[in-house]
Amino acid sequence: MQAEPSRPEIRLKGIAAAPGVGRGPVFLLQKGMAVITCVKVTDPEAEIRRFEEALVATRHEITHLRDKVAHELGESEAAIFDAHLLVLEDVALLDEVIKEVRSTSFNIEFCFQEVAQRYIDIFEKMEDDFLRERASDIRDVTGRVMNQLVGMSPQRLGKPLHKQVVVAKDLTPSETATLPTDGVVAFVTEEGGRTGHSAIMARSLEIPAVVGVRGLLDTVNEDDVILVDGELGLVFINPTAQTIESYQAKELTIQNRRDRVMKEIGLPDCTLDGVSFSLQANIGGPEDMEDMSRYYAHGVGLYRTENLFLRLDAWPSEEEQYQEYAAVVKQANGKIITFRTLDLGGDKRVGDLTDEANPFMGYRAIRLCLDRPDIFRAQLRAILRAALLGPVSIMFPMISSLEELRKAKEFLRGVATELASEGMTPKEVIRVGAMIEIPAAVAVAEELAQEVDFFSVGTNDLVQYLLAVDRGNQRVATLYEPAHPGFIRTMDKIFTSAKKNNVVSAVCGELAGDSLWAPLLIGMGVNELSMTPSAIPDVRFILRHSTQSELKSLAENVLKMTETAQIKNLMNEFSQTKLKLR
Ligand code: PEP
Ligand code: MG
Repeated sequence: MQAEPSRPEIRLKGIAAAPGVGRGPVFLLQKGMAVITCVKVTDPEAEIRRFEEALVATRHEITHLRDKVAHELGESEAAIFDAHLLVLEDVALLDEVIKEVRSTSFNIEFCFQEVAQRYIDIFEKMEDDFLRERASDIRDVTGRVMNQLVGMSPQRLGKPLHKQVVVAKDLTPSETATLPTDGVVAFVTEEGGRTGHSAIMARSLEIPAVVGVRGLLDTVNEDDVILVDGELGLVFINPTAQTIESYQAKELTIQNRRDRVMKEIGLPDCTLDGVSFSLQANIGGPEDMEDMSRYYAHGVGLYRTENLFLRLDAWPSEEEQYQEYAAVVKQANGKIITFRTLDLGGDKRVGDLTDEANPFMGYRAIRLCLDRPDIFRAQLRAILRAALLGPVSIMFPMISSLEELRKAKEFLRGVATELASEGMTPKEVIRVGAMIEIPAAVAVAEELAQEVDFFSVGTNDLVQYLLAVDRGNQRVATLYEPAHPGFIRTMDKIFTSAKKNNVVSAVCGELAGDSLWAPLLIGMGVNELSMTPSAIPDVRFILRHSTQSELKSLAENVLKMTETAQIKNLMNEFSQTKLKLR
């Protein structure tokens, strides 16, 4: 027999979205397909009840189908459904699922999928044709039960992943939030930009990712192997042995550099000449708090509270939110947590949010909250209750005017008064901030500064709104350019207004964690940088090896420049020189 010719290596270029190198077989994520996630549950018995309800509903469904087929085609054709009904009565299988839920406390979907797959594998290997058929009966019935459990049509069901590269046209933030990331070694998408929320989540999960890869889906096959270079934005489909080898060497260099900066991770946040700054963490929930400690962040500068809503794909109650917020505040152990109030809308869509032609310009963030007092109040109550457990700040996203900020603060005051009457008053003062991410807010920054304790600049959005470039659109990704002199001057105006009014300047957009940008931002007068925790080591290393006057003169020089390329060169030179130190 002739050996199958090995497939040629294909190299595609996209946008580097999360650093690192990942290699594995392809997992093609079809639109609307859901992957069964493995999550710990607090109440296994409730899972078992859901399972029993799903079994009853499936029995009704199959019996109905059986009767219909018997009526239309005859009894012998309907017999197949009798075999399916027998699967639902297979005590050994059902008991094993229940045992698995009780012993692992994993969700029922995951346990059922695992046990059913074990049965399918056994039957598929049988010699006897009749017994082999049992495998497809179980597969069919599993699909139906799973439909009942997750409320989906059969083609949307997926399998757990095993060290695979997820390939998709695009990944929505809720898909990224619910993927069983244990089994994912890298992400590659045909669409999307570096500051899209899925790319941000990939960085926070420390999973290498490349987005905006043109022609990806026309090139990749389900049985391909992919190597993803999240630093250069390269994707190799069926990489040759030579490519794999050269990447092994590259990974070693990256690891050595990482080890070098990690040696200084616990040192204080101050420049060579002793001027302090504060590096903080961007988080999406309690699961990120371990990273906050591991990288010695001085608190959380951005808690993306909408992630809970995305994970549940629903509107959680005040109590559900409180449980999660309380866990975060407790784990912070006295370090400050900056809650950003709900920023749903844009590319972050939940349940019944209706589609819009221009979601980033639409019903999003503070606009949604001011329009839905029930949702806003529940969240503010949950945050203020969590504030009884430790220091907390609150900031409002997408503020565009003084009136909007005042309305949001009024809500906060109302909720605080209500809680005080219930005997709940936080010990510490809660700092209140405005996110500056809409150009009109920059224009009225002087006035806004008089109403808040801090500004937190959302550079991801500010760039897109200032330059009129959709942050998630791969076609205009090269125009999404923060080194535009117009953007640099805009930031200068924000930091100058803050300083004049004694307001703290923070940056929590992706530029804060970018080694190229952090020196410039500190040089421009920023006090706090909040970033994906894994970005802290490089940023701390660079800043700790710089003097305040070096950083200031970098900022002064950049502010005089009129061309993007010049600006980028200067920033690049600065951070490369610092990273090579020692
Ligand atoms: C930003 O816009 O920079 C920001 C931090 O918020 P998000 O990325 O969640 O819009
Ligand atoms: Mg934003």
